[in-house]
Amino acid sequence: MDALGKLRLLGPATCYEPAEEVRASGARAPADAAFDPGTYVHEAAMPNGKRIKLLKTLLSSACERDCAYCAFRSGRDFRRVAFGPDELAHLFIQLQQSGIAEGIFLSSAIASGGPHTQDRLIDTATILRQRYWFRGYIHLKIMPGAERDQVVAAMALADRVSINLEAPNALRLAALAPHKVFADELLQRLRWIEEIRRETPGHWPSSATQFVVGAAGESDVELLTTTEALFRQAGLARTYFSRFSPVPGTPLESHPATHPLRENRLYQSSYLLRDYGFSVEELAFDATGNLPLEVDPKLAWARENLAHAPVELNTADRRALLRVPGIGLTGVERVLAARQEGRLRDLSQLRKLGLVPQRVAPFVLLDGRAPAQQLSFWPT
Ligand code: SF4
Repeated sequence: MDALGKLRLLGPATCYEPAEEVRASGARAPADAAFDPGTYVHEAAMPNGKRIKLLKTLLSSACERDCAYCAFRSGRDFRRVAFGPDELAHLFIQLQQSGIAEGIFLSSAIASGGPHTQDRLIDTATILRQRYWFRGYIHLKIMPGAERDQVVAAMALADRVSINLEAPNALRLAALAPHKVFADELLQRLRWIEEIRRETPGHWPSSATQFVVGAAGESDVELLTTTEALFRQAGLARTYFSRFSPVPGTPLESHPATHPLRENRLYQSSYLLRDYGFSVEELAFDATGNLPLEVDPKLAWARENLAHAPVELNTADRRALLRVPGIGLTGVERVLAARQEGRLRDLSQLRKLGLVPQRVAPFVLLDGRAPAQQLSFWPT
């Protein structure tokens, strides 16, 4: 099978691996090509906000592990293929030179052990950097059981590295991936990444992880407690949440799919933990430890805490302003800048700052007065 044929099989397989802020797939194919890269080249927003065309692919779909939810688990009947490092690097450079792809997200199933697979991923990235002088974006997966030196080598080559924890703790992982060891094989690599960044000065990549949501009976409070610890202790840039969807021919084929809104609420909550100064204890969970699906987590907190103690927009500090629904990371800077020019007195000023008055008004004071009554004059 030629390299494009392999990409057709391995590229779509990364639908199980979220990466960066992938908003849409579908780079345009060249007019003369019987080749549609749309399912594996994605328009992705980089951590610096720049958008690039990101090729997402596996190096191999041949796996010796038996994770209960995974399409690539050993023994499952489907066609498996693998790139050689040279072959994939060459293909990517061709796509890059054709303007189809600008960066690469590279993961793999595991064959002959995590360290061996890690070597092949590192070899691919080394060929890209050293033979082809590729200077663009590389997101490289760290394999379970990879050695510390390999983690250093991967970090020296990549702009982002990630290792999938899949579950929030050892107990839940045992239900998902019986032959993975949560602390020693997975979590320890995330700790090493942070240690290496701290101990060795240099320009090191950001790090991320991924959880499968809804396959192991885990609750949102478990997922977010681990997320919070990873942000604070392992310096993670992102946690990705991948809602479970049953795959035929796996032990979990009859397990119900996870509601898409659950994934969304987890992302919203993780941003509150990372960027808005919230802690897990402040979020509202139901009796089963899950976030209510019907309400945005920040709004749920504000209804409990701000409805009777609104925030004065003219004097509140940045941290307090960020707790107001409708005021995000950009909005807060605008409010702070506007306060240098004069006092904020009515909702029209908020609208000029790009805020949605209807969202903000129930939870703030403007120059000592509740603006909520102004809403009756406000077009909805
Ligand atoms: S190790 Fe990765 S690719 Fe292999 S079965 Fe588990 S999740 Fe799937």
